[in-house]
Amino acid sequence: MEPVCEHQRTQVLARREGVDYVECLDCRRIFEAEDLEALPVEDDEAETA
Ligand SMILES: [Zn+2]
Repeated sequence: MEPVCEHQRTQVLARREGVDYVECLDCRRIFEAEDLEALPVEDDEAETA
């Protein structure tokens, strides 16, 4: 079985034609930011130590 990645840690790679491309820091997959909007995303500002 493959481990399920929820892509909770991402960074923006590029922005093109109004589309943000983000990379998951955990599994290294690349998505359009719109594809991640359906997932619960926590604010980067409130990182827990
Ligand atoms: Zn991931």
